[in-house]
Amino acid sequence: MKRSLKIGSVSGIGIFLHWTFLLLVAAIFAYYYVQSQSLGAALSGTGLVTGIFLCVILHELGHALTAKRFGVPTRSITLYPIGGLARLERIPSEPMKEFWIAIGGPVVNIVIAAGLAFLLLVTGGTFAPDALTAPGQHIIASLMWINAVLAGFNLLPAFPMDGGRVLRSLLALRQDYAQATQTAANVGQAMAILFGLIGIVWFNPILLFIALFVYVGAQQESQQAMYRAFTEGTPVRQAMVTRFVTLSVDDTLSDAVDELLAGTDHDFPVVENGRIVGLLRRKRLIQSLSDYDEETPVADVADQDFFTTESGAPLDEVFQQMNAKSCSTVPVVDDDRLMGLLTLENVGELIMVSSALESRSRPSVRNEQLSDVPLHDRPNGTRSSPGSATVP
Ligand SMILES: [Zn+2]
Repeated sequence: MKRSLKIGSVSGIGIFLHWTFLLLVAAIFAYYYVQSQSLGAALSGTGLVTGIFLCVILHELGHALTAKRFGVPTRSITLYPIGGLARLERIPSEPMKEFWIAIGGPVVNIVIAAGLAFLLLVTGGTFAPDALTAPGQHIIASLMWINAVLAGFNLLPAFPMDGGRVLRSLLALRQDYAQATQTAANVGQAMAILFGLIGIVWFNPILLFIALFVYVGAQQESQQAMYRAFTEGTPVRQAMVTRFVTLSVDDTLSDAVDELLAGTDHDFPVVENGRIVGLLRRKRLIQSLSDYDEETPVADVADQDFFTTESGAPLDEVFQQMNAKSCSTVPVVDDDRLMGLLTLENVGELIMVSSALESRSRPSVRNEQLSDVPLHDRPNGTRSSPGSATVP
C-alpha cells in the first residue's frame, strides 16, 4: 500500500491512487498539450480522464457498498491505469449475494449514463461524443458513452470481469459452486481465445492484452474455487500443525536462531504458562539480529499484534482471511491455550491430499477420513498462493 497515495475514504473504505496512475495523468496532460499546443485543451483532456476515473471509483464503491450490506468489509479501493480494484475480505459463497456484489459496479455506470443522457435531453445537448484526439467540446456526451461502454465491457461473461461472477452466481443457483466456476471459467477462456484471435487479425495489442488478462483471470478463479470446495465445511483443527516449536519468554534471539536452523519451522509462538504472548516470524527474527544483541529476549521483539483463530472455526473463512491479510501463520487458540498453528503450507497440503483422495473417486471421503491422514509434516517449498478476493 506504500506505493499508493490515499485520496480519501468513503464509509470507512480507503481510496488509493497507485503511483503509476499519477504517471498516466501526467502523460495524458503532456499528450494533449503536445497535440494541441494549448493549455486549455490539455486541461480539458485531463479533466475528461479524471471524470472517467471518478466514474471508476463510483463503480468500485458500487461493489464495496453492496458487499458491506452483506456484512463483507472492503479493505481498500485502488485506482490503477488499467482500472480500479476493490479488495473485499471475501466473496460470499451464497450465489445471490455474489450476484448483487458483482452487478453493483456496472449498475452504477448504467445509472450514471442514464443520468447524463437525461441531462443532455433536458438541456438539448448533442449526444455525439468528442473525438479522443480533441476532447473538451462535449464532455457530458463523452462521459455518457464511456459509462455505457464501461458497463458493457464489465458485464462480458468472462472472469475476472464482473460479468464472469454474475454468470458463475447464476450457474451456482443450479449446480455446485466448483462446477459453476469451472463452467464460467471455460466460457471466459473461450472468450479470451476469441479476443486473442481478433487481436491478432486486427493487429490490436489492447485486445491481446485483454485476452491474456481474461485467460489468466479465469484460471485463477477456478483454482480459488477448488481451494474453497476443499476447505468448505472443514474445521481449522483438521489442517492445523500440532507438532511445532515454541519459545518461552526467557529465550533469547540466539535460542530462536538455533531452532530456526535445526528444524523446518519459520514462525515461532512465544508462550508463557501455555498462553501465547507473541509470534516471532522468520523475517522479524532475521531483521532483529542486525538491530539487537543476540542475548535480547525474544519477547522484546516478537510480534504482539497477530490474529488468532479457534480449532472449530470454519477453515475456508480463516483461509480467506489469511490471504486477505497476507498472513502465512495463524495461532489456533482454544480457551486461552495454544492448540496448534494454521499455516498456508498446511492448508495447501490438505487440499493436495483431498484432491488425491477425491481422484480415487470416493466423493464423500473429504470430511470423514482426513483425520487419519498425517498432515502435520511440512514439506519444503510447497506453498499455495491463491490471491485474495479482488473485484475489478
Ligand atoms: Zn467491477
